[in-house]
Amino acid sequence: MLQSKGYGATSADDALHHLDFQRRDPGPHDVQIQIRYCGVCHSDLHTVRNEWGNTVYPVVPGHEIVGRVVAVGNHVTRHKIDDIVGVGCMVDSCQRCDACGIGLEQYCENGFVGTYNGEEMHTGGMTYGGYSDSIVVHEKFVLRVPDKLDPAAAAPLLCAGITTYSPLRHWKVGPGQKVGVVGLGGLGHMGIKLAHAMGAQVVLFTTSPNKREDGLRLGADEVVVSKDAEAMARHQNSFDFILNTVAAPHSLDAFLVLLKREGTMTLVGAPATPHPSPQVFNLIMKRRHLAGSLIGGIAETQEMLDFCAEHGIVSDIEMIRMDQINEAYERMLKSDVKYRFVIDMATLA
Ligand code: NAP
Ligand code: ZN
Repeated sequence: MLQSKGYGATSADDALHHLDFQRRDPGPHDVQIQIRYCGVCHSDLHTVRNEWGNTVYPVVPGHEIVGRVVAVGNHVTRHKIDDIVGVGCMVDSCQRCDACGIGLEQYCENGFVGTYNGEEMHTGGMTYGGYSDSIVVHEKFVLRVPDKLDPAAAAPLLCAGITTYSPLRHWKVGPGQKVGVVGLGGLGHMGIKLAHAMGAQVVLFTTSPNKREDGLRLGADEVVVSKDAEAMARHQNSFDFILNTVAAPHSLDAFLVLLKREGTMTLVGAPATPHPSPQVFNLIMKRRHLAGSLIGGIAETQEMLDFCAEHGIVSDIEMIRMDQINEAYERMLKSDVKYRFVIDMATLA
């Protein structure tokens, strides 16, 4: 077994702290990665605090991983030693079901294996994530990080990037469309950059008036403070698509009424307690759609990384030391993230 060190939690009310644990030795199809950077996703916080009720302790979070290949199994063909690679939210799936067959591993009918807090297919143990010095992953779930991308700022693309890219592509966002992004955090700031690069007119909805300038700088054409009823009313019936990234329960009706006939609002935010049910009339009167979307498949994740390289897109990051992680979680809860924390794994003493 491979001795690893990292940061994790042993219970829901435990702060993150040093943890030593074991990973499997690389098998014939595995890549061993020395982790250089790991982004901090709100899902890490939900999981550490058992807000979704499914956490198995100890948990080592982190699914926005960028690092260097240090060993490969003898059947590995896609990656070689010293390559800069990425790992996102999944490290395995059944590879046999219909969903896996068309590159939608995130919807694997037998359940994909999460990068952390997932059940290992190989050893029967749990998976441990990127707040650590190394990781061992099947080569199929390892992404190439294009040279053009700064490796630290590329880390958040592995979750925040693909989670916003996939629905924007699925609902065919492009020129001539008016697209809303709700919430300016890790996912939201990537949603703005990507929708803007795809040619859409982008409107940011935020609860934080002080994020207006940043919203415009990141690529929004307009910023609306969602608590301002008059400003909201001016946008009624006008959106083709709204991407909702908010991590807390809120009124969906406030945004549904902004969709035009047959428009779609897709939820990617995953709050611990449910949103109040929307008014059915807000859906049926204009044949509007309310949808959800989960990360993205492996091939689509590579496509997103290549798209970002082509368009010069990375995340706006604030680099932190590993021992600043608990403070970073508190700031994330106050919507004080500009716009993704990334851990410099060299600081893991
Ligand atoms: P984040 O950086 O904390 O951003 C969330 C943003 O939501 C905040 O910055 C804030 O933006 C807004 N917000 C927070 N509390 C709010 C409230 N009470 N009312 C209204 N707005 C509020 O989080 P993230 O990492 O982007 O993740 C967002 C959510 O997506 C989390 O629930 C996460 O678990 C989920 N997620 C889902 C997937 C998926 O596959 N579907 C993948 C990754 C993450 P403003 O200040 O602009 O209002
Ligand atoms: Zn995530």
